[in-house]
Amino acid sequence: MLECIFCKIIAKEIPTEFVYEDDRAVAFLDIHPTNPGHLLVVPKSHVADFLAVSVEDLAACMKILQKIARVLPQAYNTPDFNIMQNNGVGAGQIVPHLHWHLIPRYPADPLRIYPHEKNYDETVAEFRTKIKQILA
Ligand code: AMP
Ligand code: ZN
Repeated sequence: MLECIFCKIIAKEIPTEFVYEDDRAVAFLDIHPTNPGHLLVVPKSHVADFLAVSVEDLAACMKILQKIARVLPQAYNTPDFNIMQNNGVGAGQIVPHLHWHLIPRYPADPLRIYPHEKNYDETVAEFRTKIKQILA
């Protein structure tokens, strides 16, 4: 993908702070970190989103996320983190090349990713019924 910024990063065409690379995926620091150490794990093959990724690339990305998450206490003095994957414009995905955010967290930091503030027309039991019916 010629115009994809993450493909350019993977091709080493853009200066990037890489922390890890294997044959299927890379990890590099986010240029606009939410917290110190905020990084991205990205499959080398261009796929737009979570639904398009192969299980092999998915596994490779999960392996790297876990490997880096395990060293966060040493690197950033915290065992806590969020793994986020924004899927689609409505979910806040800006770069249309699949990636996971690994964001170190601290007890006093101001991030609130799941506010739990809304009321919905459907109940949780209704959500369950609908999804189970569709999956069956
Ligand atoms: P998303 O909203 O999930 O698509 O997030 C895209 C992320 O990519 C944002 O957090 C950006 O700060 C980050 N980003 C965009 N361009 C670069 C770049 N050249 N190097 C590192 N991170 C980038
Ligand atoms: Zn790409």
